[in-house]
Amino acid sequence: ALAKRVRQLRAEGRDLISLTLGEPDFDTPDHIREAAIAAIREGFTHYPPVAGIPELRAAAAEVFRVRNGIAGLSAENIVVSTGAKQSLFNALMCLVNPGEEVIVPTPYWVSYSTMIQMAEGIPVLIHPTVAEGMKLTPAALEAAITPRTRALMINSPSNPHGVMYSRAEVATLVQVLERHPHVMVISDEIYELIAYDQEHVSFASFESIAHRVATINGMSKAYAMTGWRLGLMAAPRWLAELCERYQGQVTSGTSSISQRAALAALTGTLEPTYAMVRAFCARRDLLCRAVAAQLPDWKFTVPEGAFYLYPDVSAVFGRSTPAGQIIRTADDYAAYLLDAGGVSTVPGTAFGTSAHLRLSYACSEAELTEAVRRMAEATQQLR
Ligand code: PLP
Repeated sequence: ALAKRVRQLRAEGRDLISLTLGEPDFDTPDHIREAAIAAIREGFTHYPPVAGIPELRAAAAEVFRVRNGIAGLSAENIVVSTGAKQSLFNALMCLVNPGEEVIVPTPYWVSYSTMIQMAEGIPVLIHPTVAEGMKLTPAALEAAITPRTRALMINSPSNPHGVMYSRAEVATLVQVLERHPHVMVISDEIYELIAYDQEHVSFASFESIAHRVATINGMSKAYAMTGWRLGLMAAPRWLAELCERYQGQVTSGTSSISQRAALAALTGTLEPTYAMVRAFCARRDLLCRAVAAQLPDWKFTVPEGAFYLYPDVSAVFGRSTPAGQIIRTADDYAAYLLDAGGVSTVPGTAFGTSAHLRLSYACSEAELTEAVRRMAEATQQLR
């Protein structure tokens, strides 16, 4: 409904600032684009193998080994797909039997719960509190595990709230998982390189559970390659083979040209990524400062990674707009900020929590500054 309203207001010529973008507002680095152009010129345009071209699978295995500290991987453990989204879905379809449970801490990335249901599984949502740093605790994980639990699905750095699990925190979750050998982990690490204050930690870097982890990654975020549609999974051989068979009946291998581009990305310089991350970090600091100063009713934890701020805005619930409408939910508030302030945000209901808004800072510093000013002005008019 909000997206429809945004389109309507745009068509009417309203000056809107969008804080909804789920992708970097940067272009794919030149050396990656050149590799794709070379692939086209060479005629590298035929069906690629379902699980990916061998060079890319080998390069990905090397990156997972060196960067993520996952031992014992070779090309056979890697499945290249049409985006991290497909890799997540492949893993769920191949792992989950009807009626099995998948544990998901909230807030979660929009598609998780629906994907689990599409695999005929049951999403078991855990709601970490602010006191818990909005992170899954070992006690909460332990309490949620049943004989029917198939997997834990977790995302660090997180979309939507930018939370990251430290090595010590992952270690305590791993201790719980060690006691429950029937539970797999689907670890979505697509934002791993967009991290500001601490190192990213892969679940599969813990050897005791590595044979039960599907590590999901891809090119979309760190390399600004959302449109190229390329995802990666590193998993035990049996699961990689199942996902290959499944994908072979659904989409086959992803674009041969994108695979060459991804190979250049994985084997080339990370300088453009680092420059992008520095820009995101400066914007994060600006946005957090501006919100703390101008929207003091909003409560948030400073995001450690990804490019979203996820404030709890429930303090405004119950207040009334100048037109006399009561703001009861995050959806109402998002609609009001759009109409009164010309700023679009995503309500937390999309991510499994009801008190929050998601603000993407994949936009310029000038837009962020103006967006906060407008949202503060609109909020001050609430009574
Ligand atoms: N996982 C998370 C947490 C995301 O935020 C996204 C994209 O927004 C994806 C997965 C999907 O990424 P891809 O573009 O590689 O399909």
